[in-house]
Order: sequence, then C-alpha cells, then structure tokens
Amino acid sequence: MKYSELCGIYSRLESTTKKLEKTEIIAKFLKGIKRERNRRDIIYLLQGNVFPESEAGVLGVSEQLTVKALALAGGLSKEEVVKKWKAGGDLGEVAEDIIAHRKKIAGGRELTVENIITNFRKLPGFEGKGTVEKKLSLITGLLSEATPEEAKYIVRTLLSDMRVGVKGGILRDAIFDSCFTNDEKTKEDKALLQRAYDLTIDFGLVFDYACEGVSKLKEVSLMPGKPIKVMLFPKADSIEDAFRIVGKPAAFEYKYDGFRVIISKNKENITIYTRRLEEVSRQFPDLVKYAKKYIKAETAIVDGEAIGYDPETKKYMPFQDISQRIKRIYNIEKIEKELPVELVLFDLIYIDGESLLEKPFIERRKRLERTVKTEKYRVSLAKQIITSDEKEVEKFYGEALETGEEGVMAKNLDSPYKPGARIGYAVKLKPEADEFDLVITKAEYGTGKRGGWLTSYSVSCLAGKGREGELLEVGKVSTGLKEKSELGLSFEEMTKLLKPLIEKEEGREVIVKPKIVAMVQYQNIQKSPTYSSGYALRFPRIKVIRPDKKVEDANTLKDIEREYEKHRR
Ligand code: AMP
Repeated sequence: MKYSELCGIYSRLESTTKKLEKTEIIAKFLKGIKRERNRRDIIYLLQGNVFPESEAGVLGVSEQLTVKALALAGGLSKEEVVKKWKAGGDLGEVAEDIIAHRKKIAGGRELTVENIITNFRKLPGFEGKGTVEKKLSLITGLLSEATPEEAKYIVRTLLSDMRVGVKGGILRDAIFDSCFTNDEKTKEDKALLQRAYDLTIDFGLVFDYACEGVSKLKEVSLMPGKPIKVMLFPKADSIEDAFRIVGKPAAFEYKYDGFRVIISKNKENITIYTRRLEEVSRQFPDLVKYAKKYIKAETAIVDGEAIGYDPETKKYMPFQDISQRIKRIYNIEKIEKELPVELVLFDLIYIDGESLLEKPFIERRKRLERTVKTEKYRVSLAKQIITSDEKEVEKFYGEALETGEEGVMAKNLDSPYKPGARIGYAVKLKPEADEFDLVITKAEYGTGKRGGWLTSYSVSCLAGKGREGELLEVGKVSTGLKEKSELGLSFEEMTKLLKPLIEKEEGREVIVKPKIVAMVQYQNIQKSPTYSSGYALRFPRIKVIRPDKKVEDANTLKDIEREYEKHRR
C-alpha cells in the first residue's frame, strides 16, 4: 500500500473530533485493506506505532535528531528549523512546510507502508559507534523521498505524537464494523474482540483474527511471557454494599499497599509486568528468583502485589517508599537489598498450558494454594476469609487496618477473571481519605507490651456556635500510631504529650486537658448513642497530630452532620 493513502486517512481523522466519524472513517478504510499482506503493520501505523503495543519497542528518536534530519532534507540550517518549530509548536507541521519548500529531487520513488515500517524498525537496532549518524541518514533519506503530507506524519510517528485521535475503543469498534456483517453483529462478538485485545494487547493481531472470523477470535488464549491487562476493581461504600455487589458468601482479603504485578513463568523465563503493562523483570531480580523457586509449575501466570518492607525492622512500607524501584535500572543489587519486596499472590490465571480465565475464583485460589510454596518475606498468599457474616468481615477489616493494610477486597467466589475489566467481580473497601481535625479529650492505658503507654484516645469535635468551649465525643481511636518512633508518630511520643495534660484518672482511663488536635481519618459515620455528639466515626485512624492547630480550629458538630448526610447518599 502506498504510504500516501494512509496519510490521507490520518488527515481525515485529524479533521474531526467526533468519535463516530472517526470510527466510520477507519471502518471503511479497514474494509479495503482486509486482503493486504501487511494489514497488521497498517494497524500499528494507524495507531501511531511501529511495533505492537505488547512489545513496547521504542524507536529512540529525539526531537533534536529530527530537527537535524529536517535541516538536512530541507537544505536549511538547524537554527532555521528550530525557529519555525518555536513559531508553530508541532514539528510535524514544520516538516510539512519544509518539505513543501525544498527543491524537488526528480524521479524519487513513491513511499509505501512497507518502506516506512521496515526502515523504522531498523532504528532501535542501531547500536554502538555511529548510531546517531545511521539514524540520521535513515530518517533524512525517508524525508527526502516524502511528499509534504507524508513528511508530517513520518515526523509525528517518529516522535510518537500522532495527534489523530485513534484510541483503543475507536479502533475496536471500527474493526467490529469492518469485519462483521450486520446480522452477525452482537454484543457478545464485540466483547470477544475486546477479550482478544485484552489477552494480546495487539490490535494488529486482533484485526488479523477478526478478518478470519469469530471462531479464530475464540481461539485467542493466554500466553505466558506476553503482557495482559489486569482485572480492575470498583469501590464499595460499606461492607453491606460489598456483599450486595459480590454476593454471599464472599471471599475477603487484605488489600495490600504495594504495586500490582502479573508474573509469567515459562520454564526458566520469568516476565514481570505492572498494571500499566511496563515490563519490570530487570528491576526486580528478587521477584524473578522467587517466581522460579516458589511457583511449582512449568508455566504459569499469577497476579499479585509486591510490597516493600524495611530490611531491618521487617515492617511493611507504604507504596510510595518502594515506588522508586519500578523506575530504577542502575545499581539494582544495592536497591534490592535496601528496599526488599515480598510477593503476595491473589490469583492464578494460567497453569501448565491451561487457561483458568473462565474458572470460578474459588477454584483459581485453591489451585494457587496448591501451586505456590510460601515463605515469609518472600512469597505469600493474600490473607483470606470466606464468609456471609458482616460482623466477621468487620473484625477482619479492622484487623487489616490495624496491621497497616489499606483495607480489604471482597471477591465473588464464582466469577471468572476478566482482563482489563472493572465489573465488580471483586470490589475494594477502604477508608475514605476523609478526615476531621479533632481534639483528644480522654485516653486509656494499653496492656501487655503496650502497658505504660496511653494507646487509645477519645476524640471530640466542637459543639459549635452558642456552645463555645464545649466538646462532644465522636469516637475512640487506637490505630494509626506506631510502636517505634522511627516509623512515624509512636505511642510513646503521644503518651509524653498527653501525660502533663492529665486532669483525672479513673482506672485505666484518664481525662486530659483539651489541647491536642489530631487529624483523624475515617471510613464512614454512623449515628450512635454511645458518644455525646450522637455520632460515631467508623474505623477512625490518627494520621498526624496537628501542632499547628488550636482547639478552636477543630471541626464542629455541624461539619460532622454534613458529612454524615453526604455518606448516607
Ligand atoms: P486501587 O489501586 O485502589 O484501585 O485498588 C486496587 C488494587 O489493589 C489492585 O490493582 C491491586 O494492586 C491492589 N491489591 C492489594 N491487595 C489485593 C488483593 N488481595 N486482591 C486484589 N488486589 C489487591
């Protein structure tokens, strides 16, 4: 196919912002290329890519290099190109303008899609001495043969900045419209297309299969080593809501604060992808080792969370603390020791040649348990209970928060694994980031190893206008503080702050002068006769103390009432 034909399509796509129009333009175009030998490549170029998305190949062409190539192809100085670029902003349009005004070479060949793709694919392979020169000569060569419009899109493709608006949904719909006849078009078939994409992350391949028919699409299955889209989870408002969505009984699991990893094992080859489909196998040699050793299968694909922990105290750390490992490609061994991670697995979607996508969650979990050997601080399985009892979940949820986890996940026992979908086969339940500034009015001594410290605190809001100085309790908090001060605000520090404020002691309980304001995070608010405000915070947790705030700055009963109404909606 002539490259100019594809450029005509780019140009038409650029002229409209309407999704339906774009879909129609592409669908018509695709109908015409169904028999083209290199139809896959045409799809990649249409997306502005040179490789399938699943391969995430980078061309390694900078704007600076493109400017140089344009200067050479157009017979201008680099400064002149940069001046035009500054005035216009889009290097593609600058290319169009430059090529339109350069002296024509007589008898140049017409570019084809094949020329473009084979040449572009050579770019990442240039290595070592002379790399820049080789790239430069290849790009200049193509630009010298290009028409102005072709030059515009060559430059934009090189810089991965197509500006024609071909998103996945549009392409999927266009493939659907072009490959299925009207009486075949069902919702299920569209879902089949989406499934094929989610499993391959390759619209070129999906188009290939769709051209061959529904049965070919049905054959698409998982392949260890290839990225796949992870299943996503909507949010539930409460335990009751979670049960309503996922049914009873349900599995509840701790929700760990790490980052999602999909790990493929193909004999000795281990591949690790993040939920954004970035391959991070190199960054995590520890996970590679664990996958080899602890996953007892020849081939497998597992889904889980990598959580960082402090190598000395062995305390788990929040995601932010280990996020630097994802980007890190140098000194990996050092950082592996400083910021070790534990792999917590919660799903098994492929094993020894068999896809488990359609199997019920409960079966997948059982097989995961049979497949994975666990060892503390290396590989474990998400802590789980199966229950229909809200009280039991409440306890489990409380424990999860107490341990420092983010919350819990509720999972339907019979559901399949749907890559890329957020459809409520599982939901997350975590405390709202909502918070109040509240005054500590009472405290209680802990027991056991927390003996001698004040470890539980009654928190109060201001009664409000006309009742100045009056404080009303909204709950008791005992989570959020640490046993050791290096890890954040500790019980010991809080005890030191409160002791001088004690006014009265009654058993283990003390009444303190209202001086300390704490920021308290909570998940929900309930009406409650237990506390003088008439409300109780559910799952409250102390985030920080606010030495910058005075008691008069604390939240009022009115604030609590307003939030209560909001949470009820
Ligand atoms: P969020 O990032 O808030 O949308 O929550 C969903 C994320 O929680 C998932 O993508 C996982 O990375 C993470 N997660 C932690 N523990 C679990 C678990 N037991 N099951 C599923 N996802 C989990």
